[in-house]
Amino acid sequence: MKQGNIGVTSENIFPVIKKFLYSDHDIFLRELVSNAVDATQKLKTLSSVGEFKGELGELNVSVRLDKEAKTLTISDRGVGMTAEEIDKYINQIAFSGAEEFLDKYKDDANAIIGHFGLGFYSSFMVSKKVEIYSQSYKEGSKAVKWSCEGNPDYTMEETTKADRGTDIVLYIDDENVAFLEESKITELLNKYCKFLPVPIAFGKKKEWKDGKEQETAEDNIVNNVEPAWVKKPADLTDEDYNKFYRELYPYGEEPLFHIHLNVDYPFNLTGILYFPKVKNNIELQRNKIQLYCNQVFVTDSVEGIVPEFLTLLHGVIDSPDIPLNVSRSYLQSDGNVKKISSHITKKVADRLQEIFKAERTEFENKWDSLKIFINYGMLTDEKFYERAVKFNLFKNTDGKYFTAEEYKTLVESNQTDKDGNLIYLYTNDAEQQFSYIEAAKAKGYGVLVMDGQLDVHLASMLEQKNEKSRYVRVDSDTIDNIILKENAATVELTANEQNALSSIFKAELPEDKENSYWVSFAALDAESMPVMITQQEFMRRMKEMAATQGGMMSFYGQMPNSYNLVVNTNHALIKRLLENTENSIGEKVNPINQQIAALKQMVETINEANKDKKDDEIAETDKELIKSNNDKVAALEKDKEALYKEFAKGEDMVRQLVDLALLANNMLKGEALSKFVKRSTSFI
Ligand code: ADP
Ligand code: MG
Repeated sequence: MKQGNIGVTSENIFPVIKKFLYSDHDIFLRELVSNAVDATQKLKTLSSVGEFKGELGELNVSVRLDKEAKTLTISDRGVGMTAEEIDKYINQIAFSGAEEFLDKYKDDANAIIGHFGLGFYSSFMVSKKVEIYSQSYKEGSKAVKWSCEGNPDYTMEETTKADRGTDIVLYIDDENVAFLEESKITELLNKYCKFLPVPIAFGKKKEWKDGKEQETAEDNIVNNVEPAWVKKPADLTDEDYNKFYRELYPYGEEPLFHIHLNVDYPFNLTGILYFPKVKNNIELQRNKIQLYCNQVFVTDSVEGIVPEFLTLLHGVIDSPDIPLNVSRSYLQSDGNVKKISSHITKKVADRLQEIFKAERTEFENKWDSLKIFINYGMLTDEKFYERAVKFNLFKNTDGKYFTAEEYKTLVESNQTDKDGNLIYLYTNDAEQQFSYIEAAKAKGYGVLVMDGQLDVHLASMLEQKNEKSRYVRVDSDTIDNIILKENAATVELTANEQNALSSIFKAELPEDKENSYWVSFAALDAESMPVMITQQEFMRRMKEMAATQGGMMSFYGQMPNSYNLVVNTNHALIKRLLENTENSIGEKVNPINQQIAALKQMVETINEANKDKKDDEIAETDKELIKSNNDKVAALEKDKEALYKEFAKGEDMVRQLVDLALLANNMLKGEALSKFVKRSTSFI
């Protein structure tokens, strides 16, 4: 019997294992089973090249629980280890510069774990004692028993073993009795070992017999040794891909497309990615990609490993170049991982481009479910943006789809304004903005449907990337002003007339904390609406972005919605309203206007006389006169306002026009709506 001291050059690796790996000690089973699988694969290789000439026999790895002995045993019939090999691979945890490294990073558990592939030694996270029984495949070698109780001392002695291969026996410690439960081990095998390439047997298959569940003689194999991603794409049908998807996500909805990844240079990577139907809440969709290393599950939280938008995809990525037992921060800074990440982005874009080219109709059919994913990629990944502009689609209000280039060609000639800006009109609610869309169509303009979660952000980005292009919601101005082809027709109303209409309409607008209005004038066609409500693109978009973004943008979020009530000065009704105003309150208003004009005139004359004087050179009497005149003007304005208000109240037409404008925007609700209906009936 040999006694020795495990060759950690630094003090002792065990406290590190116990202490730092405590939170994730589930992985011990993954490590031991994958070692057993490695040993089995090695033997198969040796056999295939003729270095091992014996019978391979059944090569299953088996996991056994013994509740009474409180042991968990992992056995394989692989290459096994000779005493020398145990000494070399188990006893000498020989890492160059281990001491130095441990010292440098003694406060960073992840770095330590990352540096030492703890593999076999992770068994001590859950065991008070671990034994190895091993018999090498090599002819004439003797079976060895190794035993260690979680300290740097071990024993090694000759033993007898019936069979080739290795048994690892864990004596589970008292704090970890949970690992003696069948259900727990089943759960871990399912998580980490589901797709290992060698059959893993855990217990016996069960069957319902005579009203209860009974064990059969057949081994219960927990894994699928040949998952779809290791097969050749040519050997797989769409149905196979969908079947594999269900294997991964038993409750998932059928995916839209898949990509079979198969790279062997400059790194190895296989996998299948699926495009799910992305629901409106993208947060819920994350963390579905599973990362494997040679069919061993590593993690399903891949942020930092793949670009953020790709975390919306589902499926598996398998790469032996992604180190297995290292920390996340290590993974994120790993050069290989970065290369892998940009490669996947490229592949995803290529595949989408390919589907778009070959099966455009199908691509269009699925676009609505695909859109948010692609938009997200364009917004967050420059490289992806460059590729995606070629297949990113725009949908118009007739349900037709266009690429950016196609759409530009279509609308360029008609939708370029006098300053050379190409104006893209869009709606985010075709029903609510119906009348504006109709007005735009009447002009021969196209209207895009941009009602997705990321559309305002995308619009801003597209404006930045494409000079002289602007995205404007169809209700953000009158149709003539939205795409200004020549200077707008001038409004031929006097200041007093504008003032009158402004006061009259203001009196009837539903001003409140959330909504504010201002009145403006436009000389539109006589056939256009007499009054309409528009909402300026910039402010509205800022508010919308604030809703999804917060931070700096939340300033905009707190501002009221500001609307513009546009009065069409060429419309017969507006002309009539002005006449009515004159007829009913002209007698009272006109003298006030004259008084105001006179007072203002006087102020102006005084100012003119004093224009070259400094403030202290101006006579006190002049100053007083200006102040009193201004006060008088303010008081008169108030009187006038009151007159207009009174008039507006008695003139049903004003309220009716305001309500019609609100109604066109779906902004007329509740009591105001029912009053409108009553009023309208009385008109009939
Ligand atoms: P790694 O698997 O990363 O090499 P481990 O600590 O898991 O690190 O294993 C150390 C070494 O011990 C392995 O490389 C292998 O040579 C040997 N080994 C571990 N388990 C077995 C086994 N079941 N059969 C044969 N050799 C094994
Ligand atoms: Mg290992």
